[in-house]
Amino acid sequence: MVIDTHELGRRAGSMLEVQRDLLAPRGWQLELVQVPEGTPVELDLRLESVMDGVLVTASMSATITAECGRCLEPITDAIEVLASELFAYEPDPADEELPVLDGDLIDLEPMLRDAVVLALPLNPVCDDACRGLCAECGVRLDDVDPDHSHDVVDPRWAALSALQEQNPQGSATMEGSRAASSSPAPSPNREK
Ligand SMILES: [Zn+2]
Ligand SMILES: [Zn+2]
Repeated sequence: MVIDTHELGRRAGSMLEVQRDLLAPRGWQLELVQVPEGTPVELDLRLESVMDGVLVTASMSATITAECGRCLEPITDAIEVLASELFAYEPDPADEELPVLDGDLIDLEPMLRDAVVLALPLNPVCDDACRGLCAECGVRLDDVDPDHSHDVVDPRWAALSALQEQNPQGSATMEGSRAASSSPAPSPNREK
């Protein structure tokens, strides 16, 4: 993602427009959303020679993939990203952050990466109206009946109480029968 400004020259006022197709590098991503590595990115650049350097204006269009923050469905979307930055001919000792040309060359990667990451949605959703997942069973609520709901009693507890009704004495019965058939010594459980 290095661009040669030789053709532009260093006369203030000259301007050059460049179109590039590139493949997204690794790292254009946030936690839930990214421009996947290797996806094509269309890049339109305008290079303007100014007093102290070259003003680069970039416009990019790219495809993003994400996971809906509510229902986890995969999402594909397009983004347009605009960025501009001044690259100085000479380093400025007072401003170490100032990007500087390397001879005639400009490395656009950091500038493009920052702009893309800033443009990625922080909370991607498949739809603004997405209702997310059912807290009880995890089903995606947009895929089921609008009045999807669960009985107040958890089905696991219902199964357990049914078992207890079948065998009201529970483990006491088993222990009693074991004691009767073996020695009168106390069971190991009781020694604890
Ligand atoms: Zn969703
Ligand atoms: Zn449910």
